[in-house]
Amino acid sequence: MAFKRISDLGDLTGKTAVVRVDLNVPMADGKVSDDTRLQAVKPTVDAIAALGGRSILLAHFGRPKGEVVPEMSLKPVVPALASVLGRSVGFAELGDELPDDEVVVIENTRFFPGEEKNDPALAKKFAALGDVYVNDAFSAAHRAHASTEAVAHLLPSAAGETMGAELEALEKALGEPKRPVVAVVGGAKVSSKLAVLENLVAKVNHLIIGGGMANTFLYAQGYDVGASLCEKDLKDTALRILENAQKADCAVHLPTDVVVAKEFKACAENKVKAVDAVAQDEMILDAGPATVSTLTKVLAECKTLVWNGPMGAFEMEPFDAATVGLAQAAGKLTDEGKLLTVAGGGDTVAALAHAGVKDNFTHISTAGGAFLEWMEGKELPGVVALG
Ligand code: ADP
Ligand code: MG
Repeated sequence: MAFKRISDLGDLTGKTAVVRVDLNVPMADGKVSDDTRLQAVKPTVDAIAALGGRSILLAHFGRPKGEVVPEMSLKPVVPALASVLGRSVGFAELGDELPDDEVVVIENTRFFPGEEKNDPALAKKFAALGDVYVNDAFSAAHRAHASTEAVAHLLPSAAGETMGAELEALEKALGEPKRPVVAVVGGAKVSSKLAVLENLVAKVNHLIIGGGMANTFLYAQGYDVGASLCEKDLKDTALRILENAQKADCAVHLPTDVVVAKEFKACAENKVKAVDAVAQDEMILDAGPATVSTLTKVLAECKTLVWNGPMGAFEMEPFDAATVGLAQAAGKLTDEGKLLTVAGGGDTVAALAHAGVKDNFTHISTAGGAFLEWMEGKELPGVVALG
């Protein structure tokens, strides 16, 4: 994926950059309760300012579906943003005269029906706000919207600092990775990650399947998975994926031992069993210790790891053990400089935080949908437009 960076835009003295950012922050009592996404905006605004430019920010908030919904205004985000940026931040509706502040936030792009339709007329209004366009919202890059796609064709365009760093990390993980590459795909269901599995078997050397989705693969191979979460109707699909993996020389790793319980709750009475010994009334809720030890050796043989989806029902102790064990092994190998580690997905980010390895991984993506579409091998329209 070729894309330009802010430094490719040249001198920005006296110029204005229209910057698409992610301001979709959680709010509590009218105040920003987690400013992670606001912090991600700072390197881009600073880089533009260092080149002499001013930033006008475009962003969506919630899902107002093309209508003005006052509760979804971006105005309450402005004070928190100003404090994170350490700059004066003004606010304006699209079409209003812009205030003199160093940075201006434009009202919710999704208040306009043209935004989600990628409407050229709306994109033209966005483009008229400045001289260059910068996209720093990777989390919205899988959508072809007026503020992420159409506008990029109307001005000299580049990726912002946060999005650029994210794209570079992803490129190192699946674009041109150091091999062998191992992927961990876990989580609840095969059906939600079919496209991910299909894409990965063709790209990685080792595929570790964990979580509830491993049950479907075990069932397809003839094991009795008892009362486990299992998509029996996907038996043929699972077998086809295994066949494709074999053709592509991708080694698939499924659990050889599992942790079972009769109740789906924290601290439920549990046992470690071989995969062929699960009883009718038992549920597989995690991979077992022998599996974790085997998989840790697989990680140690690899140079690159891509991870989406937990290895078990990690929200409930002790069924977090395989996820935590494997995550810590990956974190340690990363610290030792032996493994490049990239992970993403809503529950995966929570699981890795729970394992205490958030700062050890090379890159953790917080862009849910965009990260998954990238794992599916899809081209992201918001990135393509920056090429
Ligand atoms: P992500 O959000 O990272 O893409 P998913 O949403 O696909 O991940 O999967 C996460 C969910 O899968 C978690 O809620 C976890 O409890 C569940 N899960 C993992 N293993 C099992 C299992 N063996 N049985 C039931 N649920 C599981
Ligand atoms: Mg999830």
